[in-house]
Amino acid sequence: MLTLGLQVQNWVKLQFKMASRMYMYTVLMLVGLVSVPKVIADIGSFWHVTDFHYDSTVFTSQDSCTSPVADIEQKPYGDYLCDSPWSLINSSVHAMKQIEPNADFILWTGDNAPHIDESKDSSENIINIISNLTSILMDVFPNTKVYAAHGNHDYFPHNQLPPHENEIYHAAANMWQRWHRDSTANTTLRKGGYYMVSIKQGLVAVVLNTNLYYNSNKVTADISDPAGQFQWFDQVLDQAAQNGNKAYVIAHIPTGMYEEGDSMIRPQFNKKLNDLIIKHKNTIAAMFYGHHHTDTFKLWYDQDEPVAFGLVAPSVTPWRAIVPAINLSTPAHNPGIRLLRYDRLTFQLKDIWQYYLELPDANDKSKAQWKLEYKFSEAYGVHEITSASLAQLVSDLEKKTDVFMKYFRYNIVSAKGESVPTSCDTNCQRLYICSIKEVDDDRHSKCVKPVSSNGFRLVAFISWDFYFLFTIMI
Ligand SMILES: [Zn+2]
Ligand SMILES: [Zn+2]
Repeated sequence: MLTLGLQVQNWVKLQFKMASRMYMYTVLMLVGLVSVPKVIADIGSFWHVTDFHYDSTVFTSQDSCTSPVADIEQKPYGDYLCDSPWSLINSSVHAMKQIEPNADFILWTGDNAPHIDESKDSSENIINIISNLTSILMDVFPNTKVYAAHGNHDYFPHNQLPPHENEIYHAAANMWQRWHRDSTANTTLRKGGYYMVSIKQGLVAVVLNTNLYYNSNKVTADISDPAGQFQWFDQVLDQAAQNGNKAYVIAHIPTGMYEEGDSMIRPQFNKKLNDLIIKHKNTIAAMFYGHHHTDTFKLWYDQDEPVAFGLVAPSVTPWRAIVPAINLSTPAHNPGIRLLRYDRLTFQLKDIWQYYLELPDANDKSKAQWKLEYKFSEAYGVHEITSASLAQLVSDLEKKTDVFMKYFRYNIVSAKGESVPTSCDTNCQRLYICSIKEVDDDRHSKCVKPVSSNGFRLVAFISWDFYFLFTIMI
């Protein structure tokens, strides 16, 4: 009986163990099932396109060309010395459609009008150009929302975007209404050229008019908060955080410096905007800018920790600055369009697929073949675009010459030829790297020193509207 009792007891224990295991497996399976959507990320894509700079006179009076180009009519897609002819713009937008017709949305960060003399320009001209570009984006992508920002060239008089209503803000608001009909964006867009709209559940687009802070904008120079944009920016990001939303910040001019070392935004504005970006580091998922015309990025640090980043997309225009009077000549760069890959659930950026047009090749063949220039993940071994991974890349740029030279080539969108530098010494590298990692004026000044052995450094500084040359005493 005792033996039988023990056997029964063991049998019961065994059954209990098996049942427990079954229960555990069932629970694990259920957990597994529940976890499936988290494991398989939902990856989507969106376009970022910037600085079209459309010049309708490229094949006639060549108003934007920085040097006379005798055979320009023989070049169907334009020239490195001039802004974009319509053929180039048309091919860029159709290339976007051909490469990824189902992008979730499009970011368009301004500078639509050409680099031409003010005597040849007018508000009417600017409005017509914005209208041409809005129309082509709407025609080619009729079902895709576009988040559009103003550029410093999208105003007359040039660069003087005001902190109040005007005919250009109104005209743009009317044209772009279709992309944000149900939002309150129109009010702020008309008032100050900025707005916020929901992109999708959990994600908002905060579109800034950073041209209000531009060095060359004299209208806003003495105003502490032009158009109330700083206060608004702070409020909408607070509100986004309270609602559990993330934000993509979209603007034309970033804070910080050009690669050449010149600042873009007035120092007082630069500091305020940087402080707000750092304050809202947990809400801002990514930032997107244009204006440089080159392919670069920027990092914001909070107590030496990288906390925010901005991706600066290269321009569609191939225009390069040449000012013989001051011996200034910037390198040629190819036209670029950019596809971003992102996680639709977390809004985390996964990759940049940079496309470009090899301009001389397109002109030779009379055919625009837009090609993949690089995938960020493959080019730099960065598999998620975060502040930390970009900070690691900066460290690689500082230490590994081959990585820096790759960045240096991509910075001008793989342009080749006589006007393209093939080397970059230590001082040159420092300028490029400091423009990425120091968005604060004082920190940037410290970063670029010391430079030469003779105590002097001659640097050509360029802003896209003013050119000047300095001799700096170190
Ligand atoms: Zn610009
Ligand atoms: Zn531009």
